Amino acid sequence: MAVLYDRVALIGLGLIAGSMALAMKRAGLAGVISGYARSAETRAIARELDLCEVHETATDAVRDADLVVLCVPVGAMDSVMAEIGPALKPGAVVSDVGSVKQAVIDAVAPHVPQNVHFIPAHPLAGTEHSGPRSGFAELFDNRWCVVVPMPDSDRAEVDRLIRLWQGMGSNVDEMDPAHHDLVLAVTSHTPHLIAYTMVGVADDLSRVTDSEVIKYSAAGFRDFTRIAASDPTMWRDVFLTNKDATLEILGRFTEELFALQRAIRTGDGDHLHAYFTRTRAIRRGIIEAGQDTDAPNFGRGPAAKG
Ligand code: NAP
Repeated sequence: MAVLYDRVALIGLGLIAGSMALAMKRAGLAGVISGYARSAETRAIARELDLCEVHETATDAVRDADLVVLCVPVGAMDSVMAEIGPALKPGAVVSDVGSVKQAVIDAVAPHVPQNVHFIPAHPLAGTEHSGPRSGFAELFDNRWCVVVPMPDSDRAEVDRLIRLWQGMGSNVDEMDPAHHDLVLAVTSHTPHLIAYTMVGVADDLSRVTDSEVIKYSAAGFRDFTRIAASDPTMWRDVFLTNKDATLEILGRFTEELFALQRAIRTGDGDHLHAYFTRTRAIRRGIIEAGQDTDAPNFGRGPAAKG
Protein backbone atom coordinates (compact mmCIF):
# COMPACT_ATOMS: atom_id res chain seq x y z
CA MET A 1 0.00 0.00 0.00
CA ALA A 2 1.19 3.55 -0.67
CA VAL A 3 2.52 5.89 2.03
CA LEU A 4 -0.40 8.01 3.29
CA TYR A 5 1.53 10.34 5.61
CA ASP A 6 5.23 11.17 5.33
CA ARG A 7 5.56 11.64 9.09
CA VAL A 8 3.26 10.26 11.81
CA ALA A 9 3.78 11.12 15.51
CA LEU A 10 2.33 8.91 18.27
CA ILE A 11 1.99 10.56 21.69
CA GLY A 12 1.81 7.88 24.37
CA LEU A 13 3.48 4.59 23.50
CA GLY A 14 1.26 1.91 25.02
CA LEU A 15 -0.84 -0.97 23.67
CA ILE A 16 -2.70 1.11 21.07
CA ALA A 17 0.22 3.25 19.84
CA GLY A 18 2.53 0.22 19.77
CA SER A 19 -0.01 -1.71 17.71
CA MET A 20 -0.52 1.27 15.38
CA ALA A 21 3.23 1.55 14.77
CA LEU A 22 3.45 -2.14 13.88
CA ALA A 23 0.28 -2.07 11.75
CA MET A 24 1.45 1.03 9.85
CA LYS A 25 4.83 -0.61 9.20
CA ARG A 26 3.17 -3.85 8.07
CA ALA A 27 1.32 -1.97 5.32
CA GLY A 28 3.92 0.76 4.62
CA LEU A 29 1.46 3.55 5.47
CA ALA A 30 3.89 6.06 7.02
CA GLY A 31 7.26 7.38 5.83
CA VAL A 32 8.64 7.97 9.33
CA ILE A 33 6.96 7.19 12.67
CA SER A 34 8.04 9.26 15.67
CA GLY A 35 6.84 8.93 19.25
CA TYR A 36 6.96 10.09 22.83
CA ALA A 37 5.98 8.52 26.15
CA ARG A 38 5.92 10.21 29.54
CA SER A 39 8.30 7.90 31.39
CA ALA A 40 11.93 7.21 30.54
CA GLU A 41 11.19 3.52 31.12
CA THR A 42 8.50 3.36 28.41
CA ARG A 43 10.69 5.36 26.02
CA ALA A 44 13.53 2.87 26.61
CA ILE A 45 11.23 -0.10 25.90
CA ALA A 46 9.97 1.55 22.70
CA ARG A 47 13.58 2.05 21.58
CA GLU A 48 14.46 -1.55 22.45
CA LEU A 49 11.48 -2.76 20.38
CA ASP A 50 12.44 -0.35 17.58
CA LEU A 51 8.80 0.75 17.45
CA CYS A 52 9.55 4.21 16.15
CA GLU A 53 11.91 7.19 16.36
CA VAL A 54 11.60 7.96 20.11
CA HIS A 55 11.93 11.59 21.32
CA GLU A 56 12.59 13.03 24.77
CA THR A 57 9.73 15.56 24.56
CA ALA A 58 6.27 15.53 22.97
CA THR A 59 7.02 18.78 21.11
CA ASP A 60 10.11 17.23 19.48
CA ALA A 61 8.07 14.17 18.48
CA VAL A 62 5.34 16.21 16.70
CA ARG A 63 7.65 18.65 14.88
CA ASP A 64 7.04 18.39 11.09
CA ALA A 65 4.49 15.57 11.59
CA ASP A 66 1.68 15.36 9.02
CA LEU A 67 -0.44 13.29 11.41
CA VAL A 68 -0.30 13.34 15.22
CA VAL A 69 -2.27 10.68 17.11
CA LEU A 70 -2.91 11.17 20.83
CA CYS A 71 -2.67 7.71 22.42
CA VAL A 72 -2.75 8.67 26.12
CA PRO A 73 -5.55 8.06 28.67
CA VAL A 74 -8.59 10.30 28.10
CA GLY A 75 -7.85 12.35 31.24
CA ALA A 76 -4.37 13.26 29.90
CA MET A 77 -5.49 14.50 26.45
CA ASP A 78 -6.02 18.11 27.61
CA SER A 79 -2.51 18.71 28.98
CA VAL A 80 -0.78 16.81 26.15
CA MET A 81 -2.62 18.83 23.49
CA ALA A 82 -1.92 22.13 25.29
CA GLU A 83 1.77 21.25 25.24
CA ILE A 84 2.07 20.20 21.58
CA GLY A 85 -0.37 22.73 20.02
CA PRO A 86 2.19 25.49 19.38
CA ALA A 87 4.70 23.02 17.83
CA LEU A 88 2.33 21.63 15.16
CA LYS A 89 3.05 22.11 11.48
CA PRO A 90 0.44 24.18 9.58
CA GLY A 91 -1.91 21.80 7.73
CA ALA A 92 -1.16 18.89 10.08
CA VAL A 93 -3.93 16.54 11.25
CA VAL A 94 -4.43 15.77 14.96
CA SER A 95 -6.38 12.64 15.83
CA ASP A 96 -6.75 10.47 18.93
CA VAL A 97 -7.76 6.95 19.95
CA GLY A 98 -9.59 7.79 23.20
CA SER A 99 -12.42 5.49 24.31
CA VAL A 100 -14.77 8.45 24.93
CA LYS A 101 -15.35 11.07 22.25
CA GLN A 102 -17.29 14.11 23.53
CA ALA A 103 -14.96 14.59 26.51
CA VAL A 104 -11.88 14.30 24.29
CA ILE A 105 -13.31 16.89 21.89
CA ASP A 106 -14.02 19.25 24.82
CA ALA A 107 -10.47 18.75 26.11
CA VAL A 108 -8.54 18.88 22.84
CA ALA A 109 -10.40 21.25 20.47
CA PRO A 110 -9.62 24.47 22.43
CA HIS A 111 -5.88 23.83 22.00
CA VAL A 112 -5.97 23.03 18.25
CA PRO A 113 -4.43 25.91 16.24
CA GLN A 114 -6.51 27.49 13.42
CA ASN A 115 -4.42 25.95 10.64
CA VAL A 116 -4.50 22.37 12.02
CA HIS A 117 -7.24 19.76 11.36
CA PHE A 118 -8.71 17.83 14.30
CA ILE A 119 -10.40 14.50 13.48
CA PRO A 120 -11.18 12.31 16.55
CA ALA A 121 -11.28 8.52 16.21
CA HIS A 122 -11.64 5.39 18.34
CA PRO A 123 -10.45 1.91 17.35
CA LEU A 124 -12.77 -0.67 18.98
CA ALA A 125 -9.93 -3.07 19.59
CA GLY A 126 -7.90 -3.78 22.67
CA THR A 127 -6.80 -6.33 25.21
CA GLU A 128 -6.46 -6.30 28.99
CA HIS A 129 -2.70 -5.67 28.61
CA SER A 130 -0.98 -2.29 28.64
CA GLY A 131 2.32 -0.80 27.55
CA PRO A 132 4.40 -0.97 24.37
CA ARG A 133 5.34 -4.65 24.79
CA SER A 134 1.67 -5.65 24.53
CA GLY A 135 1.23 -4.13 21.05
CA PHE A 136 0.84 -6.34 17.96
CA ALA A 137 0.31 -5.59 14.26
CA GLU A 138 -2.93 -7.60 13.95
CA LEU A 139 -4.81 -5.86 16.80
CA PHE A 140 -7.06 -3.86 14.43
CA ASP A 141 -7.65 -6.58 11.82
CA ASN A 142 -11.39 -6.94 11.11
CA ARG A 143 -12.23 -4.72 14.10
CA TRP A 144 -14.18 -1.47 13.80
CA CYS A 145 -12.71 1.99 14.06
CA VAL A 146 -15.19 4.83 14.64
CA VAL A 147 -14.14 8.13 13.08
CA VAL A 148 -15.89 11.19 14.55
CA PRO A 149 -15.40 14.13 12.17
CA MET A 150 -15.92 17.64 13.54
CA PRO A 151 -18.63 19.72 11.78
CA ASP A 152 -15.93 21.72 9.95
CA SER A 153 -13.52 18.80 9.29
CA ASP A 154 -11.86 18.81 5.87
CA ARG A 155 -13.45 15.93 3.91
CA ALA A 156 -10.23 15.01 2.09
CA GLU A 157 -8.40 14.72 5.43
CA VAL A 158 -11.22 12.63 6.95
CA ASP A 159 -10.99 10.29 3.96
CA ARG A 160 -7.19 10.04 4.31
CA LEU A 161 -7.53 9.13 8.00
CA ILE A 162 -10.17 6.52 7.10
CA ARG A 163 -7.76 5.02 4.55
CA LEU A 164 -5.09 4.85 7.28
CA TRP A 165 -7.37 2.84 9.58
CA GLN A 166 -8.45 0.61 6.71
CA GLY A 167 -4.78 0.10 5.85
CA MET A 168 -4.17 -1.00 9.47
CA GLY A 169 -6.86 -3.68 9.02
CA SER A 170 -9.97 -1.95 10.40
CA ASN A 171 -13.47 -1.50 9.10
CA VAL A 172 -14.47 2.15 9.53
CA ASP A 173 -17.75 3.81 10.52
CA GLU A 174 -18.48 7.49 11.09
CA MET A 175 -20.58 8.71 14.04
CA ASP A 176 -21.29 11.87 15.95
CA PRO A 177 -19.72 12.03 19.43
CA ALA A 178 -22.92 11.64 21.50
CA HIS A 179 -23.98 8.56 19.56
CA HIS A 180 -20.49 7.05 19.85
CA ASP A 181 -20.51 7.57 23.62
CA LEU A 182 -23.94 5.91 24.00
CA VAL A 183 -23.05 2.93 21.77
CA LEU A 184 -19.81 2.39 23.70
CA ALA A 185 -21.61 2.72 27.04
CA VAL A 186 -23.73 -0.30 25.98
CA THR A 187 -21.07 -2.41 24.26
CA SER A 188 -17.97 -1.69 26.34
CA HIS A 189 -18.15 0.69 29.28
CA THR A 190 -21.07 -0.80 31.25
CA PRO A 191 -19.95 -4.43 30.63
CA HIS A 192 -16.54 -3.49 32.04
CA LEU A 193 -18.16 -1.97 35.13
CA ILE A 194 -20.26 -5.12 35.64
CA ALA A 195 -17.15 -7.30 35.31
CA TYR A 196 -15.27 -5.11 37.80
CA THR A 197 -18.23 -5.43 40.19
CA MET A 198 -18.56 -9.21 39.86
CA VAL A 199 -14.86 -9.76 40.50
CA GLY A 200 -15.03 -7.36 43.45
CA VAL A 201 -18.05 -9.22 44.88
CA ALA A 202 -16.28 -12.59 44.61
CA ASP A 203 -13.27 -11.07 46.32
CA ASP A 204 -15.47 -9.80 49.17
CA LEU A 205 -17.27 -13.11 49.80
CA SER A 206 -15.70 -14.50 52.93
CA ARG A 207 -17.60 -17.80 52.58
CA VAL A 208 -15.77 -18.55 49.31
CA THR A 209 -12.07 -18.78 49.86
CA ASP A 210 -9.61 -17.24 47.41
CA SER A 211 -8.39 -20.64 46.38
CA GLU A 212 -11.93 -21.79 45.52
CA VAL A 213 -12.60 -18.68 43.41
CA ILE A 214 -9.44 -19.40 41.41
CA LYS A 215 -9.81 -23.19 41.29
CA TYR A 216 -13.38 -23.12 39.93
CA SER A 217 -13.01 -19.94 37.84
CA ALA A 218 -13.55 -21.72 34.49
CA ALA A 219 -17.26 -22.00 35.39
CA GLY A 220 -17.70 -18.43 34.08
CA PHE A 221 -15.92 -16.18 36.55
CA ARG A 222 -12.65 -16.42 34.56
CA ASP A 223 -14.16 -14.45 31.66
CA PHE A 224 -15.09 -11.61 34.02
CA THR A 225 -11.58 -11.56 35.48
CA ARG A 226 -10.01 -11.02 32.06
CA ILE A 227 -12.09 -7.89 31.51
CA ALA A 228 -11.61 -6.74 35.11
CA ALA A 229 -7.82 -6.92 34.65
CA SER A 230 -7.96 -3.95 32.25
CA ASP A 231 -5.89 -0.84 32.90
CA PRO A 232 -7.18 1.04 36.00
CA THR A 233 -6.16 4.52 34.77
CA MET A 234 -7.82 4.10 31.39
CA TRP A 235 -11.05 2.81 32.90
CA ARG A 236 -11.17 5.40 35.69
CA ASP A 237 -11.00 8.06 32.96
CA VAL A 238 -13.69 6.34 30.85
CA PHE A 239 -16.22 6.46 33.72
CA LEU A 240 -15.28 9.99 34.76
CA THR A 241 -15.76 11.25 31.19
CA ASN A 242 -18.63 9.14 29.81
CA LYS A 243 -20.73 9.74 32.90
CA ASP A 244 -24.19 10.47 31.44
CA ALA A 245 -24.30 7.58 28.95
CA THR A 246 -22.95 4.98 31.41
CA LEU A 247 -25.38 6.14 34.14
CA GLU A 248 -28.26 5.87 31.63
CA ILE A 249 -27.30 2.30 30.66
CA LEU A 250 -26.60 1.32 34.28
CA GLY A 251 -30.12 2.53 35.18
CA ARG A 252 -31.61 0.23 32.53
CA PHE A 253 -29.32 -2.61 33.62
CA THR A 254 -30.51 -2.26 37.21
CA GLU A 255 -34.17 -2.38 36.12
CA GLU A 256 -33.58 -5.57 34.11
CA LEU A 257 -31.63 -7.11 36.98
CA PHE A 258 -34.53 -6.41 39.36
CA ALA A 259 -36.95 -8.01 36.87
CA LEU A 260 -34.77 -11.14 36.69
CA GLN A 261 -34.43 -11.12 40.49
CA ARG A 262 -38.25 -11.03 40.77
CA ALA A 263 -38.58 -13.87 38.23
CA ILE A 264 -36.19 -16.00 40.30
CA ARG A 265 -38.05 -15.20 43.54
CA THR A 266 -41.49 -15.91 42.07
CA GLY A 267 -40.31 -18.96 40.12
CA ASP A 268 -41.22 -17.36 36.76
CA GLY A 269 -39.34 -19.83 34.54
CA ASP A 270 -41.04 -18.52 31.37
CA HIS A 271 -39.53 -15.06 31.94
CA LEU A 272 -36.06 -16.48 32.54
CA HIS A 273 -36.25 -18.78 29.51
CA ALA A 274 -37.50 -16.05 27.17
CA TYR A 275 -34.80 -13.68 28.41
CA PHE A 276 -31.97 -16.18 27.94
CA THR A 277 -33.29 -17.13 24.48
CA ARG A 278 -33.12 -13.46 23.43
CA THR A 279 -29.54 -13.07 24.74
CA ARG A 280 -28.37 -16.23 23.01
CA ALA A 281 -29.53 -14.76 19.68
CA ILE A 282 -27.33 -11.70 20.30
CA ARG A 283 -24.29 -13.98 20.69
CA ARG A 284 -25.17 -15.65 17.37
CA GLY A 285 -25.33 -12.22 15.71
CA ILE A 286 -21.83 -11.34 16.96
CA ILE A 287 -20.42 -14.59 15.54
CA GLU A 288 -22.22 -14.09 12.21
CA ALA A 289 -20.73 -10.58 11.98
CA GLY A 290 -17.24 -12.13 12.32
CA GLN A 291 -16.59 -10.34 15.63
CA ASP A 292 -15.85 -13.50 17.66
CA THR A 293 -15.05 -17.19 17.27
CA ASP A 294 -17.79 -19.82 17.17
CA ALA A 295 -15.46 -22.31 18.89
CA PRO A 296 -16.91 -23.49 22.24
CA ASN A 297 -15.43 -21.55 25.19
CA PHE A 298 -13.58 -19.18 22.77
CA GLY A 299 -11.55 -22.15 21.49
CA ARG A 300 -9.88 -22.78 24.85
CA GLY A 301 -11.13 -26.33 25.22
CA PRO A 302 -14.10 -27.46 27.27
CA ALA A 303 -15.07 -25.14 30.10
CA ALA A 304 -16.38 -26.19 33.46
CA LYS A 305 -20.04 -25.23 33.59
CA GLY A 306 -22.64 -24.62 36.22
P1 NAP B 1 -1.42 2.15 27.77
O1 NAP B 1 -0.92 0.89 27.16
O2 NAP B 1 -1.56 2.23 29.26
O3 NAP B 1 -0.49 3.36 27.28
C1 NAP B 1 -0.75 4.69 27.65
C2 NAP B 1 0.40 5.58 27.23
O4 NAP B 1 0.07 6.93 27.63
C3 NAP B 1 1.74 5.26 27.87
O5 NAP B 1 2.77 5.49 26.95
C4 NAP B 1 1.83 6.29 29.01
O6 NAP B 1 3.14 6.65 29.29
C5 NAP B 1 1.11 7.48 28.42
N1 NAP B 1 0.55 8.36 29.46
C6 NAP B 1 -0.21 7.97 30.51
N2 NAP B 1 -0.57 9.05 31.25
C7 NAP B 1 0.01 10.11 30.66
C8 NAP B 1 0.05 11.49 30.97
N3 NAP B 1 -0.61 11.99 32.03
N4 NAP B 1 0.75 12.30 30.15
C9 NAP B 1 1.42 11.81 29.10
N5 NAP B 1 1.42 10.51 28.76
C10 NAP B 1 0.73 9.67 29.53
O7 NAP B 1 -2.84 2.57 27.19
P2 NAP B 1 -3.59 2.12 25.85
O8 NAP B 1 -4.37 0.89 26.15
O9 NAP B 1 -2.68 2.17 24.71
O10 NAP B 1 -4.67 3.31 25.76
C11 NAP B 1 -4.37 4.55 25.19
C12 NAP B 1 -5.65 5.23 24.76
O11 NAP B 1 -6.36 4.35 23.88
C13 NAP B 1 -6.62 5.58 25.89
O12 NAP B 1 -7.18 6.85 25.64
C14 NAP B 1 -7.70 4.52 25.79
O13 NAP B 1 -8.95 5.04 26.21
C15 NAP B 1 -7.69 4.22 24.30
N6 NAP B 1 -8.11 2.85 23.93
C16 NAP B 1 -7.71 1.78 24.67
C17 NAP B 1 -8.13 0.51 24.32
C18 NAP B 1 -7.74 -0.71 25.14
O14 NAP B 1 -8.43 -1.72 25.14
N7 NAP B 1 -6.65 -0.67 25.83
C19 NAP B 1 -8.94 0.32 23.18
C20 NAP B 1 -9.27 1.43 22.41
C21 NAP B 1 -8.87 2.70 22.80
P3 NAP B 1 4.03 5.85 30.40
O15 NAP B 1 4.05 4.41 29.98
O16 NAP B 1 5.34 6.50 30.27
O17 NAP B 1 3.31 6.07 31.69
